[in-house]
Amino acid sequence: MTTIFTAWQGVQSRIGIAATACARQPDAITLLAVSKTFPASAVRELYEFGQRHFGENYVQELQEKAAALSDCPDLVWHFIGPLQSNKTRIVAETADWVHSVDRLKIAERLSQQRPEHLAPLQVCLQVNVSGEQSKSGVRPAEAPALARAISRLPNLQLRGMMCIPDPDAGQEALSQQFALLRQLQEQLRATDALPLDTLSMGMSGDLELAIREGSTMVRIGTAIFGARTAKG
Ligand SMILES: *Cc1c(COP(=O)(O)O)cnc(C)c1O
Repeated sequence: MTTIFTAWQGVQSRIGIAATACARQPDAITLLAVSKTFPASAVRELYEFGQRHFGENYVQELQEKAAALSDCPDLVWHFIGPLQSNKTRIVAETADWVHSVDRLKIAERLSQQRPEHLAPLQVCLQVNVSGEQSKSGVRPAEAPALARAISRLPNLQLRGMMCIPDPDAGQEALSQQFALLRQLQEQLRATDALPLDTLSMGMSGDLELAIREGSTMVRIGTAIFGARTAKG
């Protein structure tokens, strides 16, 4: 038993309890382990326990860890950080998922650069649900048009939406921001019949609230790996 193992189990039990409390199935919620700033050896340790989905924020870290763990065939890499257009190629060639698409130009490049022999890149639209000026993410009012445009790109599969709410918001404001993302997604499913099945929301501090508001994927760093000392 290691610390990481115990922490990972603790997060799984939080997910189970939160799901049960709102009459959802625990296995309807995927645990994405956010390994940014932690070494490939920590990812491998968790992989050996059975964790499969890992999230990275920095392109170079993703590239290095994916190379170090290329012998783990069913490890699924999620890119969740800000993405500039000069870095899209590495992500298109390395990641299985990208959660942080918020501009058509980035989506077009990812689609063009996705290698033919790989499955379509699974994509979530990042939406700025808190309205903070400094935040990445498309504005909610612009999300439907962007989602429609992305859904027509050949080498991407639009799976849903992602948000990073205002961390200083109180519980109620946080719930409202999560609910806004779910409502946007439900609307698009209804009006455009887009097959969206993923709501990427909830982090170490608020996963219970996110699950109550319909999250299908929680992105957990600190509660598994511990506090980050470096950037991130
Ligand atoms: C770092 C990060 C997380 C994980 O946050 P914790 O609070 O450590 O669980 C989740 N999502 C994104 C986009 C992140 O950058």
